[in-house]
Amino acid sequence: MAAAASSSLASQFLGLRREAAPSTALFVQSAQSKLRLPSTRCPNGRVVAMAGTGKFFVGGNWKCPQEWLTSKTDNLNYLKNGTTDSVSRLVADLNVAKLENDVDVVVAPPYIYLDKVRQSLTNRIEISAQNSWVGKGGAFTGEISAEQLIDIGCKWVILGHSERRHIIGEDNQFIGKKAAYALSQNLKVIACIGEKLEERETGKTFDVCFQQMKAFADSISDWTNVVIAYEPVWAIGTGKVATPQQAQEVHAAVRDWLKNNVSAEVASSTRIIYGGSVNGSNCSELAEEEDIDGFLVGGASLKGPEFATIVNSVTSKKVAA
Ligand code: PEP
Repeated sequence: MAAAASSSLASQFLGLRREAAPSTALFVQSAQSKLRLPSTRCPNGRVVAMAGTGKFFVGGNWKCPQEWLTSKTDNLNYLKNGTTDSVSRLVADLNVAKLENDVDVVVAPPYIYLDKVRQSLTNRIEISAQNSWVGKGGAFTGEISAEQLIDIGCKWVILGHSERRHIIGEDNQFIGKKAAYALSQNLKVIACIGEKLEERETGKTFDVCFQQMKAFADSISDWTNVVIAYEPVWAIGTGKVATPQQAQEVHAAVRDWLKNNVSAEVASSTRIIYGGSVNGSNCSELAEEEDIDGFLVGGASLKGPEFATIVNSVTSKKVAA
């Protein structure tokens, strides 16, 4: 039944499937036997590994630009002062960037620039907030509600980013509730998960990610408007990108978790994107992985041309005819 469902879905989304080259077939088969949806075999005998069936998705998380200056001093002069001027310059670059059609592109400016960016940025790119309040608006000084975000034309919100989990102290359940409330107001959610370095080193990566997934799943009933961002904490803003194999392994496991705990359809259609030091040089190799459906990008999203390169890495996904 699940196999039938996934194979019929797969036939509708051939553009996102990749034929594994004979040399990688063994790795794909072995990963699939542990974690994956069933693969299919081509008439020419090569293994065709199932990827997610959703559209490639690339988000830019602009965060607070000053932070980039302290943590990455070398080549990030772009948003030097985090001012209105520097945001305008980034928007101008994005407005002339050539972006492949078959990619959902979203940027998440700081709250104070959301409306300005929405008004000046091409509508080819949607707007996300970096956070939203957990419930209906009210007397919550300093918070911004989902209703207010919708009111200004914001379509997405990033929830569960590691900086909110580990610096601000938001826990799994609180983040799950935020996701449910945002979705109830028609705000789409980029739901972040990811392990810390010590958790990876002590073999807890899957446990941590699955607990974070469970908290989302306990609150979310309809996954249509959810994108999952796997962002290992040790890779965010550090310049230490996960290897394609490390990322693929977790993405495949998360998709398998969705299949076992939500449904085969949700596992297949939900985008699972990778975040953590993605840039214009490493994006293509990562995009080739079967279960990497796009990226959430911090530092490199502050440079329009480099962000465009990352968006256009969708071409690495396409099956060579
Ligand atoms: C992020 O902020 O979500 C992120 C992935 O940052 P960076 O790309 O700079 O690691």
